Amino acid sequence: MHQFSIFPQKSANFRGQSIDTLSDTLASYLAKEQIDQVRRAYFYAEQAHVGQRRRTGEPYVTHPLAVAGILAEMHMDHQSLMAAMLHDVIEDTGISKAALGAQFGDAVAELVDGVSKLTQIEFQSRAEAQAENFQKMAMAMAKDIRVILVKLADRLHNMRTLGVLKPDKRRRIARETLEIYAPIAQRLGMHNMRVEFEDLGFSAMHPMRADRIRAAIKGVRGNRREIVEKIRGSIEHNLQLEGHQARVIGREKHLYSIYRKMKTKRKSFSEIMDIYAFRIIVDSVDTCYRVLGCVHSLYKPVPGQFKDYIAIPKANGYQSLHTVLFGMQGVPIEIQIRTEEMEEMANNGIAAHWLYKTNTGEPTNSSHARARRWVQGLLEMQQHAGDSLEFIENVKIDLFPDEIYVFTPRGDIKELPQGSTAVDFAYAVHSDVGNACVACRINRRLAPLSEHLQSGQTVEIITAPGAQPNPSWLNFVVTAKARTSIRHFLKHCRKAESLSLGKRLLDTALNSLDTSLAQISDEQKQRLLRATGVDQFDKLLEEIGLGNRASFITARQLVSRAGDTSATNKAAHHEALAIHGTEGLLINFAKCCHPIPGDPIVGLISSEKGMVVHMVNCHNSVETHDKPERSISLRWADDVQGEFGCEIRVDLEKSRGVIATLATRITSLDANIKRITADDDNPRISIVRMIIGVHNRVHLARIMKRVRTIPGVAKVARIRH
Ligand code: MN
Repeated sequence: MHQFSIFPQKSANFRGQSIDTLSDTLASYLAKEQIDQVRRAYFYAEQAHVGQRRRTGEPYVTHPLAVAGILAEMHMDHQSLMAAMLHDVIEDTGISKAALGAQFGDAVAELVDGVSKLTQIEFQSRAEAQAENFQKMAMAMAKDIRVILVKLADRLHNMRTLGVLKPDKRRRIARETLEIYAPIAQRLGMHNMRVEFEDLGFSAMHPMRADRIRAAIKGVRGNRREIVEKIRGSIEHNLQLEGHQARVIGREKHLYSIYRKMKTKRKSFSEIMDIYAFRIIVDSVDTCYRVLGCVHSLYKPVPGQFKDYIAIPKANGYQSLHTVLFGMQGVPIEIQIRTEEMEEMANNGIAAHWLYKTNTGEPTNSSHARARRWVQGLLEMQQHAGDSLEFIENVKIDLFPDEIYVFTPRGDIKELPQGSTAVDFAYAVHSDVGNACVACRINRRLAPLSEHLQSGQTVEIITAPGAQPNPSWLNFVVTAKARTSIRHFLKHCRKAESLSLGKRLLDTALNSLDTSLAQISDEQKQRLLRATGVDQFDKLLEEIGLGNRASFITARQLVSRAGDTSATNKAAHHEALAIHGTEGLLINFAKCCHPIPGDPIVGLISSEKGMVVHMVNCHNSVETHDKPERSISLRWADDVQGEFGCEIRVDLEKSRGVIATLATRITSLDANIKRITADDDNPRISIVRMIIGVHNRVHLARIMKRVRTIPGVAKVARIRH
């Protein structure tokens, strides 16, 4: 198995390294006490993993040591290095997070815990289609970005030592690396890490193809070297003439990028290799632009190929000038121009922050500040916020403003829009789950269905047979799926309710004819269906409930036999249908007269709204007094429940705070104010109209009496339109 390393010279030192050689490296950028803490973490891990071996046969502790070594090459801080030393301790040795906290402080314990959590998720997530979601979620749920960096270093060392695993496991890990870890490294601007992930992953997934490309590169390298040196020499010479300090480096494409280009752009190997690429590294941004001018005068630039990523950095913070030139004999030459700092950023991305933290007196110009705004922003938030939850919120917003990622109890990942609730989640799982949902657990704790979900949470929906969606869910769901499903159900529900209302209406109508629905024979029903042309009795009941058919007439048709008129004669005295206040969607209370329990009422049947309850003396119901088939006599049930809207008008003298006093007085009397409007035309008197929810007339009378006692109130009256 071929080994590719992004740090060829340095990692050679770390292979088979000891804690002492690592300490020497750390001495170049960490303080003595910090190095001592890293060493202490190492010896702790050595003890904890004692007796455990890696598949290579080496003591287990060589792995965390190597992971710390990778982070040391990126000049990561001492806490990250300590976490690297301890990263498998919780998972593999049963030592608790609390114990680590007591030994090494909470920050390190949190980091180790974060890495362990990411590792556990890896085990659950099998579906490859979820790779992208997983990437995003891993990023979103890591409370501290250093968790990701430790995890990446862990994965990098495992990839470097992949050869010892069985082929199927090797392929699985390689695929996961290509699908998840390489893109994360790229997102964080960590070019070196990404390239090594890709080359190691590609070599493990497709060993034959990798070998062939590797051999081909070797084959052309000899011919290229001469041309590369010639171009490099002439660029360098010209820059020197102009007095610019610059390093000119020849670049070679990495294995996987060659493979990808051949595959996706359908280019031949020689076409890809026919391009010569250089990087020019200079001391300042200013020099970047002057060097650009210099190379453009040396070779002709290819039109449309110049890109200024210094002024407009890439989303991951990458900065550089890119240009393509026509070289000798028209050979294309790709040039990247950047400062040392941009180079460091381009190679190590977010991790470069820790390197630059140790340098002092660094002048920051505006484009530099802009380039690193993203990375810097994240890190500053983390440093200043202190609250890790706030940090994760901010990271999430920066990276993925609109989505959250949550788990089902089985470990599947669901992507939902920001602000989604458990109800949205339930409908995302299945509409049956949504419809039967009654409660939820978020991370195993019972939570309100309306609570906003956060990335990384596990959401469990508790369903109950026969449960129904609540219309109030429409106030907080955000997904279209939940919204449409709830609406659809309610519509369906209306149908069921109209059936039951129809049954009650017909039964009441039959009672007034001294019979009941139970006494009606099938034969009578069939006769009615034949007469009306409706094919099912339930449909007929539904039509009654919806107001498309009068119950009184239908009752008469049911009981009338040829020549029997006695039933019709009795129809004069209907027995009133009782209103309980709990009927649901199909009974509406009129918005004109606002009837409340205690008021004499009548039901008007309308085909759009079902039955609407009006006051008997409402002008709208008076009109239908001569159309008995459209109206139903009603009464309030003795046990009527609920809150009924009713409109009142209060005239009061204008004074500061009087409306507030009015509102407070009303709500203190157990009534809700549903709507309030004030008419201010009169300079002295305000006319306030409001709709308040009351239980009955007695309740209303008490409220009106108490409102009258408010100083400044001139008049209180119930109003009807
Ligand atoms: Mn590990």
